[in-house]
Amino acid sequence: MSKDLSPSAKKQLAARVSYYREMGIYDFYRRPSDEGVQIPLAAAPEPAHEVTDASPLPVIQDKPSALKAIREDIGDCTRCRLHKGRKNIVFGVGNMNADLMFVGEGPGADEDEQGEPFVGRAGQLLNNMISAMGLKREDVYIANVVKCRPPGNRTPEKDECDICSPFLLRQIETIQPKVIVALGAVAAKNLLAMNDSMANLRGRWYDFRGSKLAVTYHPAYLLRDPRQKKETWKKYLGLKPPPKSAEE
Ligand code: URA
Repeated sequence: MSKDLSPSAKKQLAARVSYYREMGIYDFYRRPSDEGVQIPLAAAPEPAHEVTDASPLPVIQDKPSALKAIREDIGDCTRCRLHKGRKNIVFGVGNMNADLMFVGEGPGADEDEQGEPFVGRAGQLLNNMISAMGLKREDVYIANVVKCRPPGNRTPEKDECDICSPFLLRQIETIQPKVIVALGAVAAKNLLAMNDSMANLRGRWYDFRGSKLAVTYHPAYLLRDPRQKKETWKKYLGLKPPPKSAEE
């Protein structure tokens, strides 16, 4: 650790690093500091057991600043091969004080074009699901596991998810939603670190870092296999399926 840091700043930094490690975040990216103090985030942190009196965690930033810092850390990212074909990084959108957060897989063509998650056909269906819950899109927060469009909309590879999901975890940590809905297998498996079938993952609540997490079908899957929609509306949302015209 840097000799420039005061003992209490060192302790705070060690607590934060150990907190991120517990969340499975090991890579840190350095941002220039306005105060001229360089925090060497790449330096080996002190072991977690040395920080026994580190609770509660210091609140270092308000939500807008925290989200801005995450976006700045992503930067003009080239950390994985997905950057090669992208037009826009799709960070996330919505209410930073949302109780409900949706997590998808990764941007498609429309999202890549517009820089916003779930704005294409799958997004339309997601919007309908949100309004059926009595909410507006602006009430919730929406993000993806990977922030760049996989070529041809293929499923993101494990290493791509591993590189990008620390940013998603930081978004979740910042928003602190009451409920997270993982849309589809990629979101579910990455968040829960479980490699199980959708059939097994769905239909129960998980405790996820202070939030409740539910797994449901990805809207794109529901568009491909509309027979599953009824079940999603009934079982997951606890609602009657809407009239046919409103379903899509
Ligand atoms: N599918 C996703 O998983 N995310 C989007 O943003 C759009 C489609």
